[in-house]
Amino acid sequence: MIYQHRYLDGSAVDLPMGKVVCVGRNYAEHARELNNPVPTEPLLFIKPATSVVPIGDKISLIQNRGPVHYETEIALLIGQRLSGEVSDGDAAAAVIGVGLALDLTLRELQDQLKAKAHPWERAKSFDGACPLSPFVPAAEAGELSELGMQLDINGECRQRGTAAEMITPILTLIKHIATQFTLLPGDVVITGTPAGVGVLQPGDRLQLSIPGKLQIDTRIAG
Ligand code: ZN
Repeated sequence: MIYQHRYLDGSAVDLPMGKVVCVGRNYAEHARELNNPVPTEPLLFIKPATSVVPIGDKISLIQNRGPVHYETEIALLIGQRLSGEVSDGDAAAAVIGVGLALDLTLRELQDQLKAKAHPWERAKSFDGACPLSPFVPAAEAGELSELGMQLDINGECRQRGTAAEMITPILTLIKHIATQFTLLPGDVVITGTPAGVGVLQPGDRLQLSIPGKLQIDTRIAG
């Protein structure tokens, strides 16, 4: 079953779940921690609607495919069609919600695929690969360029970042994506992960937050 978008107050968003457009290496420190070059233009990939699951009380990890790594990312819910060259104003108006996502990654498989110059989908687009939070309505989320986020695991801060640190800032990123793929209402853009990625273990307790706006407590099943 495809997950239905929700707002933080529990109400359903009246849009279908679309694709999740993702950007790799959008924080320089994270690119360096995986020994990747810092890209000169956004490195885009897509997770399908079937990869999205809600971040509820617990997150179930895919079994028997190797270690699952977390990447915490600011997620943007798209509410208007964007295609081709669009203005800053249109890009900003298209963002109707702000939340958090985990870009779950089978890192050993991804490394094998990268070594062969093969696509990453099997490492990043499997069912359950995109746990997604409810969305804060954009009108309540403040300036997109000032958003921050944090991931704590078992009470210890593992990832912390702000939109101001992104190599490609949010509006520039949305505008670039629209030149490559049409964005439709119900699509999600996830904006890259800061340094501090690592493996998830059964029983880990996760707290994800956009300080002052959103806080989600969950745990890894098992
Ligand atoms: Zn990512």
